[in-house]
Amino acid sequence: MATMPMTPMTASPLPSGRTDEARLPGELLASFDGMVYRCRIDEHWSMEFLSSGCEPLTGYAPLLLTSGRIAYEDITHPEDRTRVRDCIYAALETNERFSIEYRIVRRDGAVRWVQEMGTGVRAASGGYVALEGFIQDITRRKESEQALHEAERRFRSLFDNAVEGIFQSTPDKGYLAVNPALARMYGYASPEDMIETLRDIDQQLYVDGDRRQEFLDQMNRHGQVISFESQVRRRDSNIIWISENAHTVRDDDGRILFFEGTVVDITERRMYEAKIRHQATHDALTGLPNRNLLYDRLQQAIHGSRRSQDIAAVAFIDLDQFKFINDSLGHQVGDELLKAVTARLKSCLRATDTVARQGGDEFVLVLANQKSMEAITDTVRRIIAVVAEPWPHGGIDLHVTCSVGISVYPGDGQDAETLLRNADSAMYKAKELGRNNFEYFTAEMSLNANERLEMLNSLRQVLANDELLLHYQPKVDLASGRVVGAEALLRWRHPVRGLIPPASFIPLAEESGMIVAIGEWVLRAACAQNVAWQRGGGPCIPISVNLSPRQLARHDIVDLVADALLTTGLDPGCLELEITETVLMRDVDNSLVILRKLKELGVRISIDDFGTGYSSLNYLKRFPVDTLKIDRSFVHDIATDQDDAAIVKAVISLAHILNLRVVAEGVEEEEQKRFLMENGCDEVQGFYFGKPVEAEVFGEMCLKRKPDTGDQARTKRLLKAPF
Ligand code: C2E
Ligand code: MG
Ligand code: MG
Repeated sequence: MATMPMTPMTASPLPSGRTDEARLPGELLASFDGMVYRCRIDEHWSMEFLSSGCEPLTGYAPLLLTSGRIAYEDITHPEDRTRVRDCIYAALETNERFSIEYRIVRRDGAVRWVQEMGTGVRAASGGYVALEGFIQDITRRKESEQALHEAERRFRSLFDNAVEGIFQSTPDKGYLAVNPALARMYGYASPEDMIETLRDIDQQLYVDGDRRQEFLDQMNRHGQVISFESQVRRRDSNIIWISENAHTVRDDDGRILFFEGTVVDITERRMYEAKIRHQATHDALTGLPNRNLLYDRLQQAIHGSRRSQDIAAVAFIDLDQFKFINDSLGHQVGDELLKAVTARLKSCLRATDTVARQGGDEFVLVLANQKSMEAITDTVRRIIAVVAEPWPHGGIDLHVTCSVGISVYPGDGQDAETLLRNADSAMYKAKELGRNNFEYFTAEMSLNANERLEMLNSLRQVLANDELLLHYQPKVDLASGRVVGAEALLRWRHPVRGLIPPASFIPLAEESGMIVAIGEWVLRAACAQNVAWQRGGGPCIPISVNLSPRQLARHDIVDLVADALLTTGLDPGCLELEITETVLMRDVDNSLVILRKLKELGVRISIDDFGTGYSSLNYLKRFPVDTLKIDRSFVHDIATDQDDAAIVKAVISLAHILNLRVVAEGVEEEEQKRFLMENGCDEVQGFYFGKPVEAEVFGEMCLKRKPDTGDQARTKRLLKAPF
């Protein structure tokens, strides 16, 4: 049985002056939406009085309760009984009124929320004898409160769990509310930490103060911002990109109360966009600006120079030996080389200059706002020098040089295209003049470009017009001094330009594919000439024919050689084919197959320009060759340059170990000859012994050296072959 702890519960008469209904007019009571009650403070809350509102509220007629057949305690929801009692007792104890919300179970079983407000009634002796109060149905209010709480909880959950940052902030700097996502995004431990710490949004958050001002301006003007992107500083000072959607919330007078909105972190997207932009404008291998960006930069440089009356320069840089390295050491090494060159080029430039990769091994510099030609020349000289520094790779030093062509704004062109084209022409000139140097553009060079085109056209007619001829240069045996061979060197007798050397048209013939037909002509002419000399009484010496890369790439070269030997009747031992080292190394497997087949025919094979490529010993051993021809660039300084001397000595001994004969090319001086003799070189070829000459002259030369050949007049007629 529940008891009132402080005041003993009694059924004593009501205190004087406080009677029942007499004090409350019945009508008034009946009009209340609820019931007025008086009950005892006992375990049943036994009702002494109930107004007529009891029935609508509980479903029970008042009499049922006042008569004691139904206890109010029983109507009280079982789960709420203790709480109700505790609350009432607590109020009585402190002499206070009570107000309490709880559930009742109506007669029909329905559960309703009620609010009970009441007070204790004391007996004259001071003890409590009853409760008096009012109970009304608050179910509807409770439900809407619950719905409201529910809604609040849902919104709270949305706010707390949203992936986007959500905020409310005031125009004058601080935050009113932020959700956990925003706190995380900005690097704070919690929303509270962020609100507490980040009090000055202008100064602490936005990287660019103007951006915050722009945000405020837009909010003022339009009441909102949409996809407003800015950079903000996180708590750890890292910078991120964000995008905001926000609007202004105003009071009834139109004054701004606060801003609210959402924030997303777009750093990744921004970085991706930047990467894509970078990829579109930069070269993937070197990271340098590509052709597109170069074009922009060049145009900017032109505008800049136009404004400041300075000059701007475009320098076209081409690596001289890149192809060799790429072909012989592989693309990976080629790539590394390009990166190394990039770093070297960058080291020579100012921040305002641009170095771009034009493609392959070509780079372009844009030197903006130059004060003088000397300044340009200085920069270019520096570049040539740093590029030429040895490049250590795989235990050896590789040497790469570059050729540079320069055009200058405004003198050499008013627009980017012209300047680039002219710098390119100048670069070709620099290459022609021996590489590892630079040339400024001159008007004459653009003429040369036109001439190239014209030459290509006339080259197409060269065979039909019978404009080709061969010169022959003797190869001399060093020990005996005898002519032991002849190299056939091609010439073009151009109707207007006279005799053109092979270097000026063979690259063109290679490019256009005409070299195949021209090469065939050379082979047949040289074989026929050798037969003619021999029939004329000349010595039986081999004739050397140069094979071009294109010829070697075609498998019918073997048939062609066989046919030339057959139709001319030349002994295969009297034909030597010269193939440059780099061409052989370009496709080793193919070279091996072709060389073997050629060897089977009985012809001799020589590796030309040896030392300019990168042959491995292993390949040299496998290639069925007879002779190595040391490139003339090594022979040139043999007497003065210790490195060259050492290389030549090494090549000679290497060749002898491999059972090959060695020919030194380009011997021009007595000293060179002596060095070669002392070091055991087998043969020499060079101006010192004889320049390339026409067939008749060569024939006579051989005859002079061989005076016992009989009827020289008869022989002379035969010296010129019918080609
Ligand atoms: P190469 O096969 O290395 O020929 C030797 C070159 O060195 C020739 O130049 C020759 O005139 C030059 N030379 C010889 N001795 C000396 C010397 O003492 N000093 C100097 N400075 N030069 C000397 P040329 O005739 O101008 O030929 C150049 C290149 O053109 C040849 O180099 C060869 O690679 C190519 N070539 C010549 N004829 C043909 C041909 O019929 N077919 C093909 N595919 N290429 C050819
Ligand atoms: Mg040769
Ligand atoms: Mg050579």
